[in-house]
Amino acid sequence: MTDFDVIVVGGGPGGSTTGVFLAKAGKKVLLLEKEQYPKDKTCGDAVSGKSVKILRELGLQKEMDQLEQIHIDGVTISSPNGTLLDVNIPKTGVQNNGYVCKRMVYDNFLFQNMKKQKNITVKEKFMVTGLLKEGDQVVGVKGKDLISGKEEQYTAKIVVGADSAHSIVAKELGLNEIDEKHYIVALRLYYEGVTDLTNKIEIHFVPELIPGYFWIFPTIEGNQKGECNVGVGMIVKDLKKKKVNLEKAMFKAIEENPLFKERFKNAKKVSPVKGWNLPLGSKVRKCAGNGFVLVGDAASLIDPFTGEGIGNAMTSGKLASEVIVKAFEKNDFSHSVLKEYQDQVEKILRPELMNSYKLQKVASNTFLLNWVTGKAKRNPKLADFIGGTLVNENTQEKIGGLKFFIKIFFS
Ligand SMILES: Cc1cc2nc3c(=O)[nH]c(=O)nc-3n(C[C@H](O)[C@H](O)[C@H](O)COP(=O)(O)OP(=O)(O)OC[C@H]3O[C@@H](n4cnc5c(N)ncnc54)[C@H](O)[C@@H]3O)c2cc1C
Repeated sequence: MTDFDVIVVGGGPGGSTTGVFLAKAGKKVLLLEKEQYPKDKTCGDAVSGKSVKILRELGLQKEMDQLEQIHIDGVTISSPNGTLLDVNIPKTGVQNNGYVCKRMVYDNFLFQNMKKQKNITVKEKFMVTGLLKEGDQVVGVKGKDLISGKEEQYTAKIVVGADSAHSIVAKELGLNEIDEKHYIVALRLYYEGVTDLTNKIEIHFVPELIPGYFWIFPTIEGNQKGECNVGVGMIVKDLKKKKVNLEKAMFKAIEENPLFKERFKNAKKVSPVKGWNLPLGSKVRKCAGNGFVLVGDAASLIDPFTGEGIGNAMTSGKLASEVIVKAFEKNDFSHSVLKEYQDQVEKILRPELMNSYKLQKVASNTFLLNWVTGKAKRNPKLADFIGGTLVNENTQEKIGGLKFFIKIFFS
């Protein structure tokens, strides 16, 4: 007898989504979360079309529309030579465009929805510190109740590691290898009083930060106060090679770059600068084995070009839950059954992640960035095509693919 069918470690978008799908399938789930929700998460707060697709499947899109957020209608890109390009996201039949929604709000929305499910037990302020194993089969977790201070253990047929970039589940299984070529470090803070914000997210390839980028994401609809999420990210290997001080480079861009200087002149910081890591999906990580699966950042599934990870965290959570349900049907919780989840990740998520990796390489070339931006500025159809591939759920899979490059080079 086990205490639960499935234990999910971590209640972010990956864990909450896995938990909801499993609970809806009638599984008895324990979700363990070290923090208390609502809580902040260091992020750009851009919720892309891929997340919207899962929200729709969960019947949550209408409620999402009621939250404090902003509907995104395009992307503003600037190239290293300062060319500004506004691209619109093509409208498709359903509302696929993403949002910017503070993670304090978005994650809590997902978390509370998950908590409402019938078959779920949620323990907040519980820090998982290790795995329980029988031979090489994962059979549960141990950890500490951070309120009572008590050490506790729970058993289950399957443990889901949804515990982020520094996943204890991945670490215990020896799957947390960090490859600096496939790992980003990023900083974020919030501002008020930034001028000329629109409903577009802004991605700026400023020279100091290439091959990384500087972003400005408006955070609220009808933005009178100039509120936005501002940040920078860079691949760790490049950061070390170029000896970039990310924080200094970000403030230098804000204070000196002609594109931002005036816009930030009367702006004030309304949060501290916070940093966190992004494990990229251009590095394949084993994400299923005997009695366990990893989802989201714990499975290293962040888009190597855009830095987006919420959509893949939610999608991997859904894929994992489907395979877990099959494992219960077969009463087999070994790698031989759970590896179907890894197969699904490779089939459904990896091609796009590898295409984005190609785009990341293009974006590290200043000449190409200037050239593509200049070309798209002269050709609005090409600009809209790029915008669609960056943000829209239906065109995302084409990003960086052969057609994408042909269109860019020959339009
Ligand atoms: C600066 C920055 C900007 C980003 N911008 C964007 C963006 O704009 N759009 C986008 O889509 N993605 C962005 N990302 C990536 C995105 O934040 C992640 O990909 C996403 O949060 C992954 O979701 P997750 O559920 O896997 O992990 P998380 O959201 O990190 O959730 C993990 C959860 O596990 C809990 N946990 C961790 N360890 C334990 C433990 N031992 N015991 C119990 N609980 C535990 C944590 O408290 C947390 O609640 C950004 C990342 C960074 C760092």
